[in-house]
Amino acid sequence: MFDVEKIRRDFPILTEKVYGKPLVYFDNGATTQKPKCVLERIMRAYTTENGNIHRGVHYMSEIATERHEAAREIIARFIGASSSQEVIFTRGTTESINLVARTLPDVICQRGDEIVVSEMEHHSNIVPWQLAAERLGLKLKVIPITDGGDLRYDLLDEIITEKTKIVAITMVSNVLGTVNDVRQVIRQAKKVGAKVLVDGAQAIAHIHVDMRALGADFFAFSGHKVYAPNGIGVLWGRKEILEMMPPFMGGGEMIDRVTFEKTTYNKLPFKFEAGTPDYIGSLGLAEAINYLDRIGLDEIKNHENELMNYAVERICSMKGIRRIGSPEKCSGVLSFLVDKAHPYDVGAMLDKLGVAVRTGHHCAEPLMDRFGIPGTIRASFAIYNTKEEVEVFAKGLERIISIIG
Ligand code: PLP
Repeated sequence: MFDVEKIRRDFPILTEKVYGKPLVYFDNGATTQKPKCVLERIMRAYTTENGNIHRGVHYMSEIATERHEAAREIIARFIGASSSQEVIFTRGTTESINLVARTLPDVICQRGDEIVVSEMEHHSNIVPWQLAAERLGLKLKVIPITDGGDLRYDLLDEIITEKTKIVAITMVSNVLGTVNDVRQVIRQAKKVGAKVLVDGAQAIAHIHVDMRALGADFFAFSGHKVYAPNGIGVLWGRKEILEMMPPFMGGGEMIDRVTFEKTTYNKLPFKFEAGTPDYIGSLGLAEAINYLDRIGLDEIKNHENELMNYAVERICSMKGIRRIGSPEKCSGVLSFLVDKAHPYDVGAMLDKLGVAVRTGHHCAEPLMDRFGIPGTIRASFAIYNTKEEVEVFAKGLERIISIIG
């Protein structure tokens, strides 16, 4: 049974007061709060299991290495990877995408080839590809979206053609909450032999993913958006493709043998993990994943869907509220505007009531341009949010609307 009150007790920050009011944290799309088990795991690692990994023969190094590699196995299982060799630790989604954009086009693209993204991408799934396009003389093409915020699936075969070598697409929009039918995009990409990277930043805490079933070639996500610490993230990639890609960064750990004349590289996944990895963050991430597994992603999805439906019903029916996008299939993200008010002002007023939302362009300026708006107010829900909190939020908005007049 999903028991939200029990879950809330796992998150110490939720008892904090903000300006004397209980914290209502609806900025989960930006980052999630951390459960006690994750915080305790980090504390335990630093107090009893700390030594730089993969290098030492001493106890602390060996135990830290063993725990770090066990964490990789847990993550591999959680995302349905066929091998933990395909799980590369990075700092987060942004670094994962940059890793691919900096190395893959160099081995599979020729001048004039095309990379396809969508109109709803986060900057971190646009700019790395733009940099690659500039470097190699490639063209960036964009899948447009409908007014409701869904991909224009009807245009896929026009946009993804024989010239397309890479398609980079988000699974869930961080602004509209759209859950994309990425499988449809992947099918079209595979028809023309293109590689596909899926940005899973907004999906990983809400949707069950399975790399074997998905059919993509890369999947990127950040630990901090899935109740794990900041500074750890994952790139999953298909082994045979990772093997043909050159290293991303040079340094310790990613090498096999170094001489001044020539360096050979380590096997996967270490070839892409130069320097000391965040071997404590990986333990925190594995702990967070175990925590989610214990609760069950289906239960989590149901709970968040209920909150989202209630929020849409309660807030979007208010006079003066304009929802941005209303996708066919939506994750727990609600973006809207208040008539006659700048999103920033609404966000600042909500903050004084203890309600944390995000305002602005959400690192998706092309999407804001698509809707002709400077930004939105965004509420994004998580496992520990409640209907009562949505009610506090709604009442706050009613007050703000009445003040603005
Ligand atoms: N992609 C999407 C869809 C996001 O929402 C975000 C962050 O909000 C990112 C990528 C970048 O994630 P990070 O800053 O953790 O690298």
